[in-house]
Amino acid sequence: MNFSDKIYIAGHNGMVGSAIKRKLQNLGYTNFIDVSSKELDLRNQQKVDDFFKRHLPDYVFLAAAKVGGIFANNNFKGDFIYDNLMIQNNIINSAHHYKVKKLLFLGSSCIYPKYANQPINESELLDGKLEPTNEPYAIAKIAGIKMCQSYRDQFGANFICVMPTNLYGPNDNYDHKSSHVLPALIRKFHEAKISNSSRAEVWGSGNPKREFLHVDDLAAACVFLMKKYNEKEIVNIGTGLDISIKELALLIKSTVGFNGEIYFDKEKPDGTPRKLLDVSKLNNLGWKHKINLAEGVESVYEDYKEKYSLQE
Ligand code: GDP
Repeated sequence: MNFSDKIYIAGHNGMVGSAIKRKLQNLGYTNFIDVSSKELDLRNQQKVDDFFKRHLPDYVFLAAAKVGGIFANNNFKGDFIYDNLMIQNNIINSAHHYKVKKLLFLGSSCIYPKYANQPINESELLDGKLEPTNEPYAIAKIAGIKMCQSYRDQFGANFICVMPTNLYGPNDNYDHKSSHVLPALIRKFHEAKISNSSRAEVWGSGNPKREFLHVDDLAAACVFLMKKYNEKEIVNIGTGLDISIKELALLIKSTVGFNGEIYFDKEKPDGTPRKLLDVSKLNNLGWKHKINLAEGVESVYEDYKEKYSLQE
């Protein structure tokens, strides 16, 4: 990738896309094609085709997606499958049609079977039933992987696929219903502290385990793989470390400085019991994460207070 190559980051305003753009800018890349979802509806095939025809990008990072936490995935299944299939079909096909040099497709760790062997190796894909709460999203992402791999097999397209673990970082979604657990708990504990509540609610039993990666680390890994990796097989991106939701809640409680009690609402779903990625392939290629969870949570809490919290 040369510094003047034309780069299109689909989803450049989102948490992942904006982190990839920051990383590339820091490295000296300058030639970005930016278009917001208001200007270009990526679900519209004709519009996406016209966009590629006009701009002819050299490199594409496909970070545009409909994403959300366990509640959103479970309650808006139609949106999750339709939006994601349309976005990725249109971009991957246009990237092939207009001869993009390389495309990186971002999937998710939820593509793996609910009861996959831990840590989850890339070879576990399609080896068992999916977690029902996010099955439509996972099916869309699996279709994206298969599309990239099929275009490589049939047309020789250099499209690569990466599977990030649970992410957090600047520009995250803090909405009570659609957010993921880490930003959700930052907001809940912060609001409980500000309003002097005696307790804050955490969904589920607290027992499920999750792995968390700072989005700046993810962006670094994506750029690393865009430069270095040219194979068909998917690559996991994570830290290789996980903690229980209860441990996460205690970490966030202490970072935020909330002194009340934590109440676990067992009526809410736990989702998959564990999804720790096997990151040995990525580590062997020469990349490892840098930001540890305690330090990452502290920095996002500062970001949250600055951007989203009007009180205190
Ligand atoms: P998942 O990794 O796809 O299950 O997505 P989430 O990040 O939404 O949820 C991870 C785990 O955290 C699940 O077991 C949730 O039940 C649990 N959790 C606890 N409190 C919350 C909360 O306030 N919001 C969300 N989204 N999840 C929560």
